[in-house]
Amino acid sequence: MTDITERLSRFAPVETDVSLAQMTTLHIGGNARYAVYPETLLALDGIIQIARREGIPYKVFGKGSNLLCSDEYYEGIVIKLDRGFKNFYFTGSELLAEAGCSLIHMSVEAMKRGLSGLEFASGIPGTIGGGVFMNAGAYRSSMSEIVEAVYVYMDGNAIWLNAEDCGFDYRTSVFREHPDWIILAARLRLEEGDSEEIRKLMEDRKSRRLASQPLDKPSAGSVFRNPAEVPAWKLIEGIGFRGKRIGGACVSEKHVNFIVNEDGATAYDFMRLVNEIKEQVRQKYEIELHMEVERFNWH
Ligand SMILES: Cc1cc2nc3c(=O)[nH]c(=O)nc-3n(C[C@H](O)[C@H](O)[C@H](O)COP(=O)(O)OP(=O)(O)OC[C@H]3O[C@@H](n4cnc5c(N)ncnc54)[C@H](O)[C@@H]3O)c2cc1C
Repeated sequence: MTDITERLSRFAPVETDVSLAQMTTLHIGGNARYAVYPETLLALDGIIQIARREGIPYKVFGKGSNLLCSDEYYEGIVIKLDRGFKNFYFTGSELLAEAGCSLIHMSVEAMKRGLSGLEFASGIPGTIGGGVFMNAGAYRSSMSEIVEAVYVYMDGNAIWLNAEDCGFDYRTSVFREHPDWIILAARLRLEEGDSEEIRKLMEDRKSRRLASQPLDKPSAGSVFRNPAEVPAWKLIEGIGFRGKRIGGACVSEKHVNFIVNEDGATAYDFMRLVNEIKEQVRQKYEIELHMEVERFNWH
C-alpha cells in the first residue's frame, strides 16, 4: 500500500488501478490511479485536503452516465459519491436529497408519497449531483424547475446556493465553470399530487423510453445537444448514419442520437464516430453539433 493509498483509506474505502469503464454506463475508459467512496462531508474534506497538498487531480463521479472517459490512464482520484451520500428526507412537499441519491429512486419515493415534479427524471440513470450539474431534463422539464437550493462544498466550506445563483440553462449550470465545487445535496420543491396518476405517467414514460432508446446496450444517453433549429437526431438521420459503425462504437438503430458500445468500443472509436457525424452534418446542413456527453481525461 502506498503512502497516499494509506492516507486516503483513513477517510474512505479506496481502490487502486480501477477501470473507469466499470464506473461509467458506456463501459469505456482506461484505469484510474485511485477511486474513493466517501460517506460524509468530513471524509470528503479529508480526501480533498490530501489531493490538494499532494497536487493530485481529482474528479467527482455520480453514476458516470454522462461521461466518455479516454482510453488513457488517469493519474488522479475519482471521488465516487453514489455509494455514500445517499440520505434523503421528505418534509411536507420538499425533498432534501444528498448528491449520491439516484434520480430514478428519488422519483419513485416521491411518487409513493403523492409528490409530483420528479416524473421527468424517472428514467434518467444518474444521481442528484450529476442531474443538478448538467440540469438534466426530459419531456420539457428539467432539474432547474424543481431545485430550490443546492448545498455546495467550495474552498473548504459548505454553503447553500439558491437556485437563482446556480446559472441553470439548457443542460448546463454554474457548476460546469467551477470543477472544484462539489454538490453535496439539493433541496427540491415538489407539489402535492395523486400517487396513482404520477405512477401512470411514470409507467407511460418508461414504456416510451423502452420503445425508443437502446437501454439494453451500454451508452451515455444522447450524444449531442439539440441545436436551436432542429433536433440532433434529425440531422444524424439525414446524413444516413443510422447503424453506422466505427470499431466497436455504433450509432444506435433505435435512437440515432445514441452511440452504443456494441463490442468493446474504445474512446477513440467513439470519438472517430462523433467527429465523422459532426463533419457530415456541417457539410450537409452547415450546423455545428456539440456534444452533450462530457469527455473526461482527454488531453
Ligand atoms: C440510457 C440513458 C438515458 C439518459 N437520459 C437522459 C435524459 O433523458 N435527460 C438527461 O438530461 N440526461 C440523460 N442521460 C444522461 C445522464 O444520465 C444525466 O446527464 C445524469 O444527470 C448524469 O448523472 P450522473 O450522476 O451519472 O453524473 P456523471 O456522469 O457521473 O457526471 C457528469 C458530470 O457531473 C459532475 N458531477 C456529478 N456529481 C457531482 C457532484 N456531486 N458535484 C459536482 N459535480 C458532479 C461530474 O464531475 C461530471 O462532470 C441519460 C443517460 C443514459 C445512459
